[in-house]
Amino acid sequence: MPNSISRRTLIELGLAGASVAIAGTAIGQPTPASEPEGPPLPDSEKIGFAVVGLGKLSQGQIIPGLKKARGAKLVALVSGHPDKARRIAAEQGLPADAIYSYEDYDRIAKDPRIQVVYIVLPNSMHAEYTIRALKAGKHVLCEKPMATSIADCEAMIAAAKAADRKLMIAYRCHYEPLNLEVMRRVRSGAMGKPRMVATNIGRQADLGEPSDAWRLDGKMSGGGALADMGIYGVNASRYILAEEPVEVRAWAQTDRSDPRFKTTEDLIAWQFRFPSGAIADGSTSFSYQATMAFQVFCEHGKMTAEPGAFYGGNRLTINDAAGENAPKFPDTDQFAREMDWMAEVVRGKAPLVSPGEEGMQDMRLMHAILESVEKGGAPVRTDWGYRRAYDPAAVVDVPKPI
Ligand code: NAD
Repeated sequence: MPNSISRRTLIELGLAGASVAIAGTAIGQPTPASEPEGPPLPDSEKIGFAVVGLGKLSQGQIIPGLKKARGAKLVALVSGHPDKARRIAAEQGLPADAIYSYEDYDRIAKDPRIQVVYIVLPNSMHAEYTIRALKAGKHVLCEKPMATSIADCEAMIAAAKAADRKLMIAYRCHYEPLNLEVMRRVRSGAMGKPRMVATNIGRQADLGEPSDAWRLDGKMSGGGALADMGIYGVNASRYILAEEPVEVRAWAQTDRSDPRFKTTEDLIAWQFRFPSGAIADGSTSFSYQATMAFQVFCEHGKMTAEPGAFYGGNRLTINDAAGENAPKFPDTDQFAREMDWMAEVVRGKAPLVSPGEEGMQDMRLMHAILESVEKGGAPVRTDWGYRRAYDPAAVVDVPKPI
C-alpha cells in the first residue's frame, strides 16, 4: 500500500507548497518526513480516474495500482477494443456507461465521475488525448515520455494553462522509496559531494510483440530505446544531482541490418556535464539484457541501485565509511503512490512535483542527445535555464528503510 503524503510535509508546505517553490537544489527546503499511512478514504471521497489505452501497463500495473490507492479509484475506461473494455469493466465492477471509445472520448466532459484522465497510449498519441481531456475540463496524468516532439509538449502545457487544469507526467520514480532514499542521502551531504552518476537502462526489444512494434517505430515512439528506457536515466541524473546539465555529448551504435532498427537508434551512450562539476554517464539500448541500474559516486561513498527502477524488488547497496549496508524498503506499490499523489494535487493538498515542464525538459535533453549523435559526439549546450519547481526529495515523503 502507498504511503500517504505526510501531514508534517503538508504543514511545512503551507498546503500550497509556496515555501518550497524555489528554483534548483534542495538547499533550504524542508526535509521529508514519513508517517504511517492512513486508512483508505471512503469511496465517495476518492478521486475518479479514467484510464485511456488498455495495454500492458494499464492492465498489469495501473488498474491493479488503483485498487490499492488510498484516495484514487478507477471510474472509466477508454479503448478501441469494445470486447476487452467490456471484460475489464466487468472485472472491475464498472457499469457499461463507464466505457468510452476513442471516437466518443470527448463525451467525458459530461461525466462528473471522471476527475483525472490517465493517458497510457503509444507516445505519439499522448499530445492529442491529453489536449482533448484538458479541453473536456479534466486533469491529466500522462505517461512518459510526455510526447514525441517539443512542440507537442508546449501545446500540452499551454492547453493545461488555458483549461486551468493540472497536467502531471507519470515519473513513477519520483514517488518510489529507493529513489527517494538516494536523493535524500545525496542531499544530506553525508558522503560528500556527488561527483559522478552512471545510469544504464535498457532491454532486448522484440519486434514480434505489438507493444514493442510501436516502440521500434520512430514516429510512434519518438526515439526507440532512448524515449522508452533512456529517459529514466536522463531524469534520474537530474533528480539525483538536483541540478540541470549544461552540456551533453552522445554517441550511437545501431546495426541497420537488424530489422528492429529501421527507424530508431539502438545503443546510445551520453555524458552530461553539470554546473557543480559532476558528470552523468548514461546508456540505453534495445539490444542488451534488461537492466535498470544506476550508481552514484560521492567524495566519501558510493551507492549502487541494481535494479534501481523496476516495478518492485529494487535493491540499494551503500558503501561508505561505515562499510557496506543494504537498506531494505517496505513493500509499496509505486503506481498507487503516484496516483494518490495526483489525487492530492487535484484536492489542492500537494504540489505538482512532475508537471508538464518536467516532461518537456527531458524531451529537450533527449533531442540534444540525438543532435550530438548526429554531429558525431560534438558537444551540444543544454543550459537554457530550466529550473524544476519542486525537488521530489523535499516534498515527497519517504517510507523509512527497514
Ligand atoms: P501497449 O502497446 O501495451 O499499450 C498501448 C495501448 O494503446 C494498447 O491498448 C493499444 O490497443 C492502444 N492503442 C491505441 N491506438 C494504438 C495504435 N495506433 N497503435 C498501437 N496501440 C494503440 O503499451 P504500454 O507498454 O502499455 O505503454 C503505454 C504507455 O505507457 C507508453 O507511453 C509507455 O512509454 C508508457 N509506459 C510507462 C511505464 C512506466 O513504468 N511508467 C511502463 C510501461 C509503459
